[in-house]
Order: sequence, then C-alpha cells, then structure tokens
Amino acid sequence: MNRVLNFSAGPSAIPLSVLERAKAEFTSYKGMGFSIMEISHRGKVFDALHNAAIEKIRKFYNVSDDYAVLFLQGGATLQFAQVPMNLYNGGVAQYVNTGVWTTKAIKEAKIQSINYEVVASSEETKFDRIPENIKFSDDADYAYICSNNTIYGTQYAKLPDTKCPLVVDSSSDLLSRELDFNTKNIGMFYGGAQKNAGPAGITLVIIRKDLAARVKDNVPTPLRYTTQIEANSLANTPPTFGIYMFDLVLDWINEQGGLKAIHELNKQKAKYLYDFIDNSSFYQAHAKVGSRSLMNVSYTTPNADLDALFVKEAEANNMIGLKGHRILGGLRASIYNAVTLDNVKTLVEFMKEFERKNG
Ligand SMILES: *Cc1c(COP(=O)(O)O)cnc(C)c1O
Repeated sequence: MNRVLNFSAGPSAIPLSVLERAKAEFTSYKGMGFSIMEISHRGKVFDALHNAAIEKIRKFYNVSDDYAVLFLQGGATLQFAQVPMNLYNGGVAQYVNTGVWTTKAIKEAKIQSINYEVVASSEETKFDRIPENIKFSDDADYAYICSNNTIYGTQYAKLPDTKCPLVVDSSSDLLSRELDFNTKNIGMFYGGAQKNAGPAGITLVIIRKDLAARVKDNVPTPLRYTTQIEANSLANTPPTFGIYMFDLVLDWINEQGGLKAIHELNKQKAKYLYDFIDNSSFYQAHAKVGSRSLMNVSYTTPNADLDALFVKEAEANNMIGLKGHRILGGLRASIYNAVTLDNVKTLVEFMKEFERKNG
C-alpha cells in the first residue's frame, strides 16, 4: 500500500486502522445495510453512537455532570467569537497571548467591546515560549489560554491553576495527554478534531453548564451554548460522519492503552526529535526548553533556501507536511497521536542524511 509518512499540522494523520475500519463500514455500518451518513441524526442508531462517543470523552477526562460535551461546527475559529459572546459576564476577561490563535481570540473580544485584558504575552520573543508567572484575577469572568501553539511549537507543560473559570483552546493537543477535570477549574475546554481526533468539521466543546447559562438575551439562538446543551448538540443537523470518525479515534486511543499511554509515547517521540535537533549545529528548534510542544516541532536549517530544499527532498522520500507555517517560516514536524515513534525515527534518519549532504 502506498501511504506516506504524514507530518501535516492539520488536517493531519489519522491512524491507519481507523481509516481501514471506516472503509470496511463505508457502505454498510455494522452490517446494517446503510452508511452512517445516510441515516437520521435523531434515529436510534446514530443516537447510540453519539452518546457512546460522549461517554468515552467523559471517561478520558473524568468530566462530571456539571459539564456538557458538545460536537459543534464552525471550527475553533467560531469559538473565538462564541466564548466572549456567551461567557463574558460584565466583569473582565483575561487572555494570555501565545501566538496566532490567541491573537485571533483576543481580536474577537475586542470586536465585541467587552472589558478584556492581555495579562501575559510572549510576542516580544516571537512566541518562542509560554510566559512565566502568569497571574489571573481570582474574580475574572474567565481566563483564556491556548494549551498548544500549533504554529510556534509551544505548549503549557501543565494547565494553569485558576480561581476563575479557565477557557482552553486545545485544538492541537486534544486527547494527547491526561487531564482530570476534577483537578482544575475548567470553565470550557475545546478543540477542532482535525489535528488529533479525526477529519475536519467538528469542534469538541466541553463546557460547564452554569457558565453557559450566563448568556445574555441578545445572543442569537444558534450561537448560544445553551441551545446545543438543551438539544444534546442536535439543535441542527450535526456532522454525523465526523462524529463517527471521532468515535473510531476514541476507540483507537483506548486500544493504545488510553491517554496515559498515548502521553508517554508522545513524550518519547518529541524527546527523540528534540534531542537530535539540540545535538546538531545545523538544525535549530524555535521553542525554548520548558515550553516545547510534544505535538508540533518547529525548527529551521541554516537558511531559507535549505529549508525549501529540505521540504522538496523529504517529499521525494515519502514524507509530507514538513513546511513551516507561512507566518513563522522554516520547518515543522507535527507528531500527533497517529504519528509513530518509528515515523519519527525515519524522519531523524532523513534529517541526518540531509545535514551530511548540505552541512
Ligand atoms: C487549527 C487551530 C485553530 C483553528 O481551527 P479551525 O478549525 O481552522 O477554526 C485554532 N486554534 C488552534 C490551537 C489550532 O491549532
């Protein structure tokens, strides 16, 4: 079979066994004679799948009944606007700026003329780290962070402890490590599926129901979290095939041993790659030690011409998705859950050879 090694940042690699399973069931879901795409989102077959997926997510993250688990549309991008629209409560919303995605979220707070503050930023150092000593006010309406910065390759080693509700954009490290909702004051935790949990088209939103109830009368019905909470995400037709794929990925995570095992593997993969980069004088990592992402490794060769050549030769060697984001330039290897340690070792072998020829 002709499958490449896929280091794309998103949409990105999906486990082969998940794709094979979807292929086998494509025309006849569990032998029922219809595709999962061809049936009502309100019927009992889809309902069972949908609720089972929600339960799996609750179990992974130890999510209590105080929270709703929703599958929404519009990407993480729509959440940048929906968060202030629904959760701002007349006080102050506090943001940490760690890159492009938080900058966009902050822009939406500004557009809505809410009272917001940027309490910490790493913009001065080209977003190469997570700021130290972040201080949120205990009584802020919410504190907002992006747990993994897909473009710059930085990640919070741990989610901050807050007295106020914490809102987390976890799009690019969703289901990549353990998280116990009982140990943090999480108000809302969300992410698009297309980095680590399946195809594009779904945003997983886990939200505390009492915070969703803050919503003001002037917020349009489809943009209220309460609308989807009351309807179990069925206020309108959800992306049923995407939810099906998401559910297959949840099963695959269980087969790997759950989030703890996945996290261990992710640490090994990232260490293997960073160790090689740090021991080389040819390659340089963008993110500072202590802030490095286990998911996205952004790095450079000595110059932009070599970066371009690297991407070209990598493709000739069956490896795709290694070009850095256009904003940062350079190279980026996204090593999400579906990328194996062997895949990373193959990449490092290629990097060695490229350095030998061009160093
Ligand atoms: C990809 C990404 C987004 C944007 O997701 P869309 O689905 O394109 O809206 C937002 N935040 C983070 C951290 C991302 O990685």
